[in-house]
Amino acid sequence: MNGRLQNINARRLKNMTKKTIFKKIIDHEIPADIVFEDDICMAFRDVNPQAPVHILIIPKKEIASTNQLTKDDTELLGHIYTVVVPQLVDEFKLSDGYRLVTNCGNNGGQTVYHLHFHLLGGRFMSWPPG
Ligand code: AMP
Repeated sequence: MNGRLQNINARRLKNMTKKTIFKKIIDHEIPADIVFEDDICMAFRDVNPQAPVHILIIPKKEIASTNQLTKDDTELLGHIYTVVVPQLVDEFKLSDGYRLVTNCGNNGGQTVYHLHFHLLGGRFMSWPPG
Protein backbone atom coordinates (compact mmCIF):
# COMPACT_ATOMS: atom_id res chain seq x y z
CA MET A 1 0.00 0.00 0.00
CA ASN A 2 1.38 3.44 -0.85
CA GLY A 3 1.99 6.11 1.80
CA ARG A 4 -0.95 8.32 0.75
CA LEU A 5 -3.45 5.44 1.02
CA GLN A 6 -1.99 4.47 4.37
CA ASN A 7 -2.49 8.05 5.60
CA ILE A 8 -6.10 8.12 4.37
CA ASN A 9 -6.85 4.76 6.02
CA ALA A 10 -5.19 5.86 9.27
CA ARG A 11 -7.31 9.05 9.27
CA ARG A 12 -10.50 7.05 8.60
CA LEU A 13 -9.68 4.64 11.41
CA LYS A 14 -8.99 7.56 13.76
CA ASN A 15 -12.36 9.16 12.89
CA MET A 16 -14.16 5.84 13.36
CA THR A 17 -12.67 5.36 16.80
CA LYS A 18 -12.88 9.04 17.84
CA LYS A 19 -15.42 9.85 20.54
CA THR A 20 -18.40 11.84 19.34
CA ILE A 21 -19.33 15.02 21.20
CA PHE A 22 -22.34 13.17 22.65
CA LYS A 23 -20.17 10.32 23.95
CA LYS A 24 -18.05 12.96 25.69
CA ILE A 25 -21.24 14.33 27.29
CA ILE A 26 -22.22 10.79 28.42
CA ASP A 27 -18.77 10.38 29.97
CA HIS A 28 -19.11 13.82 31.63
CA GLU A 29 -15.97 15.00 29.86
CA ILE A 30 -17.69 18.09 28.50
CA PRO A 31 -20.54 20.01 30.11
CA ALA A 32 -24.17 19.88 29.02
CA ASP A 33 -27.44 21.10 30.46
CA ILE A 34 -28.63 17.62 31.46
CA VAL A 35 -32.36 17.33 32.13
CA PHE A 36 -32.68 13.54 32.42
CA GLU A 37 -30.31 10.64 33.05
CA ASP A 38 -30.70 6.97 33.87
CA ASP A 39 -28.72 3.80 33.10
CA ILE A 40 -30.01 3.64 29.53
CA CYS A 41 -30.09 7.18 28.26
CA MET A 42 -29.54 10.84 28.80
CA ALA A 43 -31.32 14.03 27.75
CA PHE A 44 -29.87 17.53 27.60
CA ARG A 45 -30.71 20.89 26.08
CA ASP A 46 -29.57 21.51 22.49
CA VAL A 47 -26.86 24.26 22.38
CA ASN A 48 -28.55 25.77 19.33
CA PRO A 49 -32.26 25.60 20.22
CA GLN A 50 -34.78 25.74 17.38
CA ALA A 51 -37.80 26.09 19.68
CA PRO A 52 -38.44 27.31 23.25
CA VAL A 53 -37.95 23.69 24.34
CA HIS A 54 -35.30 21.79 22.39
CA ILE A 55 -33.96 18.71 24.12
CA LEU A 56 -31.79 15.93 22.72
CA ILE A 57 -32.48 12.41 23.97
CA ILE A 58 -29.62 9.97 23.44
CA PRO A 59 -28.98 6.33 24.31
CA LYS A 60 -25.82 5.72 26.34
CA LYS A 61 -25.09 2.82 24.01
CA GLU A 62 -23.04 4.01 21.05
CA ILE A 63 -25.28 3.72 17.99
CA ALA A 64 -24.31 5.94 15.06
CA SER A 65 -27.77 6.43 13.55
CA THR A 66 -31.14 4.75 13.02
CA ASN A 67 -29.42 2.71 10.27
CA GLN A 68 -27.40 0.87 12.91
CA LEU A 69 -30.39 -0.13 15.07
CA THR A 70 -31.01 -3.86 15.51
CA LYS A 71 -33.65 -6.01 17.22
CA ASP A 72 -31.45 -5.87 20.33
CA ASP A 73 -32.38 -2.19 20.61
CA THR A 74 -36.14 -2.75 20.81
CA GLU A 75 -36.21 -2.31 24.59
CA LEU A 76 -34.04 0.80 24.40
CA LEU A 77 -36.37 2.45 21.87
CA GLY A 78 -39.41 1.46 23.91
CA HIS A 79 -37.80 3.01 26.99
CA ILE A 80 -37.21 6.30 25.18
CA TYR A 81 -40.75 6.48 23.79
CA THR A 82 -42.67 5.21 26.80
CA VAL A 83 -40.61 6.42 29.76
CA VAL A 84 -38.26 9.28 28.86
CA VAL A 85 -40.44 11.22 26.42
CA PRO A 86 -43.60 11.20 28.61
CA GLN A 87 -41.53 12.35 31.60
CA LEU A 88 -40.00 15.24 29.64
CA VAL A 89 -43.37 16.15 28.07
CA ASP A 90 -44.79 16.39 31.56
CA GLU A 91 -41.81 18.26 33.03
CA PHE A 92 -41.59 20.81 30.20
CA LYS A 93 -45.38 21.18 29.91
CA LEU A 94 -45.66 20.12 26.29
CA SER A 95 -49.25 18.89 26.52
CA ASP A 96 -50.19 21.17 23.57
CA GLY A 97 -47.98 19.02 21.35
CA TYR A 98 -44.38 18.67 20.31
CA ARG A 99 -42.18 17.22 17.61
CA LEU A 100 -39.91 14.21 18.13
CA VAL A 101 -37.50 13.81 15.23
CA THR A 102 -34.39 11.88 14.28
CA ASN A 103 -32.21 12.97 11.41
CA CYS A 104 -30.42 10.14 9.63
CA GLY A 105 -27.41 10.48 7.35
CA ASN A 106 -26.39 13.27 5.04
CA ASN A 107 -29.74 13.89 3.33
CA GLY A 108 -31.51 13.67 6.67
CA GLY A 109 -29.33 16.50 7.97
CA GLN A 110 -27.55 14.43 10.63
CA THR A 111 -24.42 16.16 11.94
CA VAL A 112 -23.59 14.14 15.08
CA TYR A 113 -23.21 10.41 14.49
CA HIS A 114 -24.55 9.24 17.82
CA LEU A 115 -28.27 8.40 17.62
CA HIS A 116 -30.40 11.19 19.08
CA PHE A 117 -34.01 12.31 19.18
CA HIS A 118 -34.83 16.02 19.02
CA LEU A 119 -37.75 16.86 21.32
CA LEU A 120 -39.03 20.26 20.17
CA GLY A 121 -41.92 22.18 21.65
CA GLY A 122 -43.27 25.42 23.01
CA ARG A 123 -44.31 26.83 19.62
CA PHE A 124 -46.34 25.81 16.57
CA MET A 125 -44.23 23.94 14.01
CA SER A 126 -45.04 23.91 10.32
CA TRP A 127 -44.68 20.96 7.95
CA PRO A 128 -42.82 19.88 5.85
CA PRO A 129 -39.35 20.74 7.18
CA GLY A 130 -36.98 22.50 4.77
P1 AMP B 1 -28.35 16.55 14.06
O1 AMP B 1 -28.09 17.65 13.08
O2 AMP B 1 -29.69 15.93 13.95
O3 AMP B 1 -27.22 15.54 14.05
O4 AMP B 1 -28.37 17.26 15.48
C1 AMP B 1 -27.23 17.53 16.24
C2 AMP B 1 -27.64 18.55 17.26
O5 AMP B 1 -26.68 18.56 18.28
C3 AMP B 1 -27.74 19.98 16.72
O6 AMP B 1 -29.06 20.47 16.92
C4 AMP B 1 -26.71 20.74 17.56
O7 AMP B 1 -27.13 22.05 17.88
C5 AMP B 1 -26.58 19.86 18.78
N1 AMP B 1 -25.31 19.92 19.50
C6 AMP B 1 -24.07 19.83 18.99
N2 AMP B 1 -23.16 19.89 19.97
C7 AMP B 1 -23.84 19.99 21.14
C8 AMP B 1 -23.47 20.09 22.51
N3 AMP B 1 -22.18 20.08 22.89
N4 AMP B 1 -24.43 20.20 23.44
C9 AMP B 1 -25.74 20.21 23.07
N5 AMP B 1 -26.16 20.11 21.80
C10 AMP B 1 -25.22 20.02 20.84
